[in-house]
Amino acid sequence: MPRQADLFPAKTAHPRLPGEGYAGTPGTGPQGQTCKTCDHLTCHEHHTGGRARRWYKCSLVKRRFSAVTDIRLDAPACHQWAPSTDQQP
Ligand code: SF4
Repeated sequence: MPRQADLFPAKTAHPRLPGEGYAGTPGTGPQGQTCKTCDHLTCHEHHTGGRARRWYKCSLVKRRFSAVTDIRLDAPACHQWAPSTDQQP
């Protein structure tokens, strides 16, 4: 007997991602790849009072100092995806 979870396809994690930080539409790149594994991912870090805050941007998008251009590491890859040479974002 099939399990209930087998009867329904897995939900897409991010059917529509907000923000203007993605170089292309998320999900139009190679299957199984994410922004985390892309060479265009850049990490920005800020230290305040002993605490670190990190946020991520796509280097192909014009840099703006706004959360609107932040991207998620687990966003599905876009068509501009390129294999990362550094696996530790
Ligand atoms: S997959 Fe790469 S090129 Fe596309 S938005 Fe993410 S970091 Fe940018």
